[in-house]
Amino acid sequence: MKIILDRPRCEGHGLCEEAAPRLMHLDDEGELILDIEDITENDLDSAKASVRVCPVAALRLE
Ligand code: SF4
Repeated sequence: MKIILDRPRCEGHGLCEEAAPRLMHLDDEGELILDIEDITENDLDSAKASVRVCPVAALRLE
């Protein structure tokens, strides 16, 4: 599976980073960086959690 960011939607609050710190982080400008896009079984729960917590639905799993 892949995690996809709809960048124009992202407001940079960072809730997703709290849910999945291994997979993503906000940079110094508040831009979300996906550190890992190909999601393996080990990261699936945290990836799903990051999708769930995003208040503007900017993340999805495909
Ligand atoms: S929770 Fe959503 S809006 Fe906030 S940084 Fe993550 S993707 Fe962007």
